[in-house]
Amino acid sequence: MSSTVISNTTNLEKYLRLPQNGAVLAEYIWVDGSNGIRSKCKTLSKAPKSVEDLPEWNFDGSSTDQAPGSDSDVYLRPVAIYKDPFRLGENIIVLCECWNNDGTPNRANYRHECAKLMEAHAAEHIWFGIEQEYTLFDEFDHVYGWPKGGFPAPQGPYYCGVGTGKVFCRDIVEAHYRASLYAGVNISGINAEVMPSQWEFQVGPCEGIKMGDDLTVCRYLLHRVAEEFGVKISFHPKPLAGEWNGAGCHTNVSTESMRQPGGMKYIEEAIQKLSKRHHEHIAVYGEDNDQRLTGRHETASAAAFSYGVANRGASVRIPRSVAKEGYGYFEDRRPASNIDPYLVTGIIAETILGSIPDADIVKQVNH
Ligand code: ADP
Ligand code: MN
Ligand code: MN
Ligand code: MN
Repeated sequence: MSSTVISNTTNLEKYLRLPQNGAVLAEYIWVDGSNGIRSKCKTLSKAPKSVEDLPEWNFDGSSTDQAPGSDSDVYLRPVAIYKDPFRLGENIIVLCECWNNDGTPNRANYRHECAKLMEAHAAEHIWFGIEQEYTLFDEFDHVYGWPKGGFPAPQGPYYCGVGTGKVFCRDIVEAHYRASLYAGVNISGINAEVMPSQWEFQVGPCEGIKMGDDLTVCRYLLHRVAEEFGVKISFHPKPLAGEWNGAGCHTNVSTESMRQPGGMKYIEEAIQKLSKRHHEHIAVYGEDNDQRLTGRHETASAAAFSYGVANRGASVRIPRSVAKEGYGYFEDRRPASNIDPYLVTGIIAETILGSIPDADIVKQVNH
């Protein structure tokens, strides 16, 4: 790929091989006030055994839409450690929650409430699998590989496509897949999507809070890999208006009882509960999701809840194989590609397994 803005990573390589004199580099990452990801790095004198060994840190929240300038310090509390696929060795990525100076969770920290819910329902062993769709743009904000001033041929050959003109940036996708595996993210697959230059990666099944953690790190790795290729990643749910598919984050769900023979009964019960809170769910299923949930392009309208076996035009789909066996999982097709995964897995757990007194997923969005 030729580009005017790419930094010269071939020169970087020889420096990455230099010994670090025992130091460990910890890249602290967090979700910012616009659902983007930020990071900064810290030198540690030795490798931590767990997050408890990692120091709390802080940053200027007024520069990330997370705090006013007059009280700008936001605290970073380490919650999970991953291996660093860019720096290798003992170097790590540290996923953090953001906390305010007054001891309350930062407004971009939806993980805290979600973790309380998951903890309260730990005995149910809720699993999630998220299918993250995304779109590639070049440095000039043009969909990658699309003809200048025009459009590619209509959708059809691109989904799971093979060959020049059918897929774009397979190198980025492949690099991201390897980087995620190395980091320790539970990435379960990838495929090219219906719209040209749109791809999907799947993460899961992950139990409880780990879903949001692995997805957040996987997104970070994607931005970071794409940066080296001079390509931008968009998580917008309808990046191109018209006859082009939008981008979602289908969320697959099961509990221990759904995964046992006879589990269909529990799947149906869960779907009944979901149908009664449709609008509360839609409210946390991503910004601009109304542009995507139109009832066309393999979506159900946001206006009403629906479900069905093998139906990709429904809000919730029971996979054919699950209906046949009588147990397994279901797929919530409503979440948009730009969701906060803690909000989505949180409200699903709340609806299906029950609310708890001190964690209200919807309320924290409206504060
Ligand atoms: P689709 O046919 O909708 O494109 P994918 O194969 O892309 O499905 O994604 C399926 C997702 O379902 C994966 O993320 C996988 O981890 C997840 N999954 C599989 N089994 C379960 C389960 N029992 N509970 C929750 N998620 C599951
Ligand atoms: Mn999929
Ligand atoms: Mn898909
Ligand atoms: Mn799906």
